[in-house]
Amino acid sequence: MSSQPLLPNARNDLNPTPRRSLILTTILIPILLIGGIIFVSIKGDGIPKDDLGLAKYYLKGSPVIDGHIDLPEFARAFYGNNISAFDLNKPTAGHVDIPRIREGSLGAFFWSIFVECRDDNGKDFLNPTFQVRDTLEQIDVSYNLIEKYSDTFAFASTSDEVEIAIKEGKVASMFGLEGGHMLGNSLAVLRTFHKLGVRYMTLTHSCNNAFADSAGIFEGVEERWGGLSKFGRSLVAEMNRLGVIVDLSHVSDKTALQALAITRAPVMLSHSAARHFNNMTRNVPDNILAKIGRGKHQVDGVVMVNFFPSFASAHPEEVDVKYIADEVEYIVEKTGKHHVGIGSDYDGIESTPKGLEDVSKYPYLFAELIKRGWTEHELSLLAGGNFLRVFRGVEDVSRKLKKDGWKPSLEIYEKRKDLKPIEGGF
Ligand SMILES: [Zn+2]
Repeated sequence: MSSQPLLPNARNDLNPTPRRSLILTTILIPILLIGGIIFVSIKGDGIPKDDLGLAKYYLKGSPVIDGHIDLPEFARAFYGNNISAFDLNKPTAGHVDIPRIREGSLGAFFWSIFVECRDDNGKDFLNPTFQVRDTLEQIDVSYNLIEKYSDTFAFASTSDEVEIAIKEGKVASMFGLEGGHMLGNSLAVLRTFHKLGVRYMTLTHSCNNAFADSAGIFEGVEERWGGLSKFGRSLVAEMNRLGVIVDLSHVSDKTALQALAITRAPVMLSHSAARHFNNMTRNVPDNILAKIGRGKHQVDGVVMVNFFPSFASAHPEEVDVKYIADEVEYIVEKTGKHHVGIGSDYDGIESTPKGLEDVSKYPYLFAELIKRGWTEHELSLLAGGNFLRVFRGVEDVSRKLKKDGWKPSLEIYEKRKDLKPIEGGF
């Protein structure tokens, strides 16, 4: 809130035509006189002066790019992927619909492609499942929704496409895979998902898989590999080659540290809270935050803050906009303003912070940060600039590795028995 009076600026800027003067006297002056205090919401140059107005103004230029929204899972869980059974132009029971997307200046997001990981997949993860089929169904429902609401959504698989979509007023729609368990132990499946548009993958979800150990949720799960398996190391290299961002949300600390040690490309944590605020294994600890950056022995990356109150705090009822702003500032304290972003987890969480109830509310977080002195440029980094830099970095590495002659990895998970050459050949 500014104490600067509106009237002098307004007078300077308003063209003194009779009509404008009429507006000034009939609308503006009475507003100014309410309560006898002059609250200023708009300067004469059209730039709002109150924090929320200013946040909305800035977000028009640099809209939010959210690292993790479970809209496809919402479609699956509530409607069996029947997209004719709900209308995104009307209020949904979830946290996301088109009017609220527009109100919140959401300019792009990762549609989370997710199916549950299963503990009964067997010790070596070889028990048959329908996970690959179900993953394809989640990619399909995402495409169907993007097509159905093509006035709003535009599919995007490159950083350039994200920027073009935003410039055209569309909501850039990227796909992120939430867990290596969805690959059916196969790098060929990863490559195929990449062709379908997948641009990040969390190496695990909440259970271990053939590639890596998971963080579990509140407590760790029993280690299977001590971090990455040998095949998991090959997975990271193949993701680097393809240009699929290595996402360290959900993975165990050892998995994260080992992946950071071998990745050639920047990384992301698409939806993570800080363990500093709530000591649970799913949250990112300080020693991993210390590895994110552009200094020596660091990897460029973006830590996108999860809004789920039960992750943010052991007392979820206390989580509000200010609390999430504290988390954002904590990530900044540990990594710098070039390594923070937003990964709300909307439509994938049962509760939301007070004041950040759905996608229409992002501006309230930005308003809180404006109150704390964040500049327009810094806010644009948080909104999406940092993510785009990481994405571009990943694309550059992919191009370079391919130029250097890296070919698709033909490695097969060593425990598979089904994909063996005929003995002796033909
Ligand atoms: Zn998740």
